[in-house]
Amino acid sequence: MFLTITTTGTPERPATDLGFLLHKHPDSAQTYPTSYGPAHVLYPEASAERCTAALLLEVDPVALVRRGKGKGRGGAPDAALAQYVNDRPYAASSLLAVALSAVFSSAMRGVCRALPERVGQPLPLRIEVPALPARGGAELVRALFEPLGWTVTATPVPLDERFPEWGTSRYVGLVLDVPDGKLTLGEALRHLYVLLPVLDDAKHYWVSADEVDKLLRAGEGWLADHPEQQVITMRYLARRHSLTRQAQERLELVRLADADDTDIAEIDNAVTEESADPGADEGADASEGRPVPLAVRRREAILAALTAAGAARVLDLGCGQGQLVQALLKDARFTEIVGVDVSMRALTLASRRLKLDRLGERQAQRVQLLQGSLAYTDSRLKGYDAAVLCEVIEHLDVERLPALEYAVFGSARPRTVLVTTPNVEYNVRWETLAAGHRRHGDHRFEWTREEFRIWARQVAERHAYTVEFVPVGDDDPEVGPPTQMAVFTQAEKNTKEVRAA
Ligand code: SAH
Repeated sequence: MFLTITTTGTPERPATDLGFLLHKHPDSAQTYPTSYGPAHVLYPEASAERCTAALLLEVDPVALVRRGKGKGRGGAPDAALAQYVNDRPYAASSLLAVALSAVFSSAMRGVCRALPERVGQPLPLRIEVPALPARGGAELVRALFEPLGWTVTATPVPLDERFPEWGTSRYVGLVLDVPDGKLTLGEALRHLYVLLPVLDDAKHYWVSADEVDKLLRAGEGWLADHPEQQVITMRYLARRHSLTRQAQERLELVRLADADDTDIAEIDNAVTEESADPGADEGADASEGRPVPLAVRRREAILAALTAAGAARVLDLGCGQGQLVQALLKDARFTEIVGVDVSMRALTLASRRLKLDRLGERQAQRVQLLQGSLAYTDSRLKGYDAAVLCEVIEHLDVERLPALEYAVFGSARPRTVLVTTPNVEYNVRWETLAAGHRRHGDHRFEWTREEFRIWARQVAERHAYTVEFVPVGDDDPEVGPPTQMAVFTQAEKNTKEVRAA
């Protein structure tokens, strides 16, 4: 089982950088054990102009069959010859994908200590797989790789060269090319990791629930918008329908959230709450008489409420690009900070903002970013002191709010919950906001103070919390503050107190 990766270079960017990016030195062949046999990495060619790395997996078909048996229902091993004579040692398949991820795991994740600046840079690439089992033929191979920027040459392998009339086998010789400037090595490896087994369509191992996570992680940044997403998820998850459905739902959420991000970027350039205040930016200093942006005032109000509640372990639900997580990290009182968002893109930006890969060990231990949807209960979120939902609820359809309510107040149940949302009454005060318009293209609703209070009081009542309301920003005598915040506190066991509040 065999695959090569080739790149070309220039004097400033020698092709042999490939060795650093793959964490495998071009000078010597290296061997790594995998569950299915040894994997060798060697470089048939390594010059500044051109460098090729080859991954060769020596599959032990007997071990493979025995392994399969060991995991099965038991009983005597079937020693039928057919089982030992299979195509696995020769054909690229899910085994090769597993070897790829085992041998090139850092490169796949886009980590490189030696050349950190090169990791994010695209490079010209050619990938060759001489024998790829492709159910669906050359046509499907193209449909899978071309939308990702690859030029595909898939040559069907004849069943037997001596007898052309027998037609072609289900194998293709695959050559993938991408010019400079399009893909990073990490992206290319993640494409292969997912799409090789999809083409093989015969997973060699039992597909368990964590395969959905693996798929979404490897598919980050390209799978949600892939036109063949359905085939990819279905085949990758070995046609297990419940897993396929789960993956597709999560991808749908990623798509929605990414649309949010685009809106945010667009709106940042046009009308925002901040730009409605002339001259205001994030760093504005109130002492110079410049208005403090509303986003900053929200964070200040949240920090004050968390401090008043004595919270140390805090969830930031719908953390977006991590501004609040960053503010919490600066305050040593917060010992554990978890940012959660459904959008992988937001989390990637958050991780960049927080420089997660460069934090010292102490700081790194305090912070975590998780992908998850607030529309589902999630056991990872239980047992925290406080949860913050800063400008998040209005991004969900009203019909989904009960699901969020249950996930946060019913299941995660932190002692304190802070929810902020725009006060729609204040919109008339934004000079640049046209009458009747919402503040953000993706807001599904914006509530009056009364509407927010009714919702919050009902939530508190249903889940045994008390609730208080805090204005954020200048509290206009007529229309109220621009942002409204509800502070929920878990009621003591004594239910009389709940009623009284
Ligand atoms: N709290 C941040 C971001 C607010 S924007 C801030 O104040 O700057 C709303 C965020 O909620 C987006 O990042 C969006 O991806 C996230 N979001 C929307 N629906 C979600 C859901 N169902 N589960 C988790 N996050 C969601």
